Amino acid sequence: MKEPLALSTLPFACLQCGTCCTAPDIASLDKPLGVRCMHLDQQGLCAIYSERPAVCRGYRPDEICRLVAAPTLAERVAKYLRLFDL
Ligand code: SF4
Repeated sequence: MKEPLALSTLPFACLQCGTCCTAPDIASLDKPLGVRCMHLDQQGLCAIYSERPAVCRGYRPDEICRLVAAPTLAERVAKYLRLFDL
């Protein structure tokens, strides 16, 4: 019998929710924890996508995106920070 796939192995499309560009601190951008990245546009897209730093290039959406889902960016960021005890 075939093993069921773990959630993290399933393809997961970016929800353009802005959480991963706001909640974590990003040293290479001098971006503090919980502060919206200056390059995140109003559509939830990266305005410097082709030139974004390596840490952003390496990021892949995963089940965390679903776990922090909420109606507003502020709520999603708060959930993310709680989830990681930040
Ligand atoms: S540089 Fe782009 S991908 Fe990286 S945090 Fe800012 S908006 Fe997000």
